[in-house]
Amino acid sequence: MATAAQLIRDLNKPAFSFELLPPLKGNSIKRVFNTIDTLKEFNPIYINITSHRDEVVFKNTEKGLFERKVIRKRPGTVAVAASIQHQYGIKVIPHIICSGFTRSETEYALMDLNFLGIHDLLLLRGDNSQKERFNQTSEESNSYAIDLIHQVNDLNQGKFLDSTIAEAFDTPFSFGVAGYPEKHEEAPNLDSDIYWLKKKVDAGAEYVITQMFFDNQRYYDFVKKAREAGINVPIIPGLKPVTLLNQLTILPKIFHVDIPEAFAREIRGCKTDADVVKVGIDWCTYQAKDLLANGVNLIHFYTMMATQSVKEVAQRIY
Ligand code: FAD
Repeated sequence: MATAAQLIRDLNKPAFSFELLPPLKGNSIKRVFNTIDTLKEFNPIYINITSHRDEVVFKNTEKGLFERKVIRKRPGTVAVAASIQHQYGIKVIPHIICSGFTRSETEYALMDLNFLGIHDLLLLRGDNSQKERFNQTSEESNSYAIDLIHQVNDLNQGKFLDSTIAEAFDTPFSFGVAGYPEKHEEAPNLDSDIYWLKKKVDAGAEYVITQMFFDNQRYYDFVKKAREAGINVPIIPGLKPVTLLNQLTILPKIFHVDIPEAFAREIRGCKTDADVVKVGIDWCTYQAKDLLANGVNLIHFYTMMATQSVKEVAQRIY
């Protein structure tokens, strides 16, 4: 079976992929299937499934004290990936993250994925815990995506954490990584971020999926800089249709991306979220058409709270 990287390289017409989240703990997988049922007519070449770390939360008790609890709000990345592959036969790319997982837990997850016949991964550091102002990893965890890449490369050669050497997997894992057209929030500058991105590509990442952006020029500039730095793998643009009034401030805050003034003005002019959905679809379509006109042949969509909007955009461009 071709890897995601091979499928991307062999594309000869505009293609579609999207990311979805595992359901919130306790919710049915039907929500995931509903998203896929809404979007499968556009023949996604793969579906990404996000991964989420444990969160520490403090709950108020009856005695007026706070109780510390560790919860994972969205468990099940591996199972959701397997379930989608089984139900739909569509290629899946589960995300594997460093933060919140020990190397041993990661090793076991990778072994499960191998047994399930899932060999495409997106390797990431992972978001910080909401209680952390910056990334804190334990000694048992990988610190950066590059460390995770080394772990996967070792495993591809049959090297396990306890130094036992076993048979290499019949099908090695193939993987992509994240890139940030507007720079990662912690990077001192874009050049530094690209320096580390190149390290990830040199270590075996076969493609880059970008953070969402709302100004295509940021993406074009990023690709140019990456190429100048010797990064020659596909850089897949990530788009998200805006669907809520409050995303005007929430998206820049969470994802560290700018919303261009022309678009911000349109959102500000909306009275309701339903109005925002319309301008969000229009803006995303405009971005997608421009990307396709400029030689991009695969666009990756972020579907969280935007499945119907992604469908509308896809209907207009594919
Ligand atoms: P890294 O590549 O490790 O980089 C992190 C920062 O450190 C950057 O500033 C980089 O410049 C710098 N850096 C990298 N390596 C080194 C080094 N060796 N020494 C010093 N500095 C270094 N988060 C989740 O929790 N779950 C998900 O499923 C998820 N999916 C995502 C999908 C996409 C397409 C994108 C773009 C992001 C996703 N994220 C997800 C968010 C991501 O995990 C965070 O943005 C995280 O803070 C950085 O991840 P990374 O893999 O880019 O990190």
